[in-house]
Amino acid sequence: MALVDINFADELEQFGAPKTLECFHCGTCAAICPLIDQHFPRQMIRYAQIGAKDRILERGAELWRCLHCGLCTQTCPREADPGEVILALRRYVLHHWRSSDHV
Ligand code: SF4
Ligand code: SF4
Repeated sequence: MALVDINFADELEQFGAPKTLECFHCGTCAAICPLIDQHFPRQMIRYAQIGAKDRILERGAELWRCLHCGLCTQTCPREADPGEVILALRRYVLHHWRSSDHV
């Protein structure tokens, strides 16, 4: 069972993504992303919105597949800046990794 944290979007602001909750899941970013076959970045944004931190950490390596091309951010009708959400999630994963027993 996935654990959720309803305050995770607030936490993600500290990592550089202040507009995570602006996404209304139109799917435009996923349709234009080169990683379309993985439903990227929309799926990760959904995890971030509901605070599914365990899912984000389990699938954290996928975040590094983002090319940072910016196409998602350019086309988002809500100006939710999905490209920056992905970068913030990378920072969150690294922060969690550095705060754990891995180092
Ligand atoms: S394009 Fe914007 S509003 Fe639409 S799913 Fe992507 S981040 Fe959400
Ligand atoms: S910046 Fe990343 S998430 Fe956005 S369209 Fe490019 S590869 Fe996909």
